[in-house]
Amino acid sequence: MSYICPICGYDKLEEIPYDKEGNPSYEICSCCGFEFGYDDHSEGKTFAEYRQLWIENDCKWFNEDERPKNWSLKQQLVNINIFL
Ligand SMILES: [Zn+2]
Repeated sequence: MSYICPICGYDKLEEIPYDKEGNPSYEICSCCGFEFGYDDHSEGKTFAEYRQLWIENDCKWFNEDERPKNWSLKQQLVNINIFL
């Protein structure tokens, strides 16, 4: 079982980012580096704003080892219904 990051659309999160009660996982997304329960509180940005910043910074992977060889931002964003 894996879960989708609401920021970048990465679909291999090990835990659900927020459970039914809204409790965050504190997992860090291997792709965009967002930490659920931390980054959403510390900077006060919306997911969309955080995503925009990440894209403007060339979509840097938090954990480069997890990055597939033929990775596509466009394809990944489809996971969260964003069509570039
Ligand atoms: Zn992410």
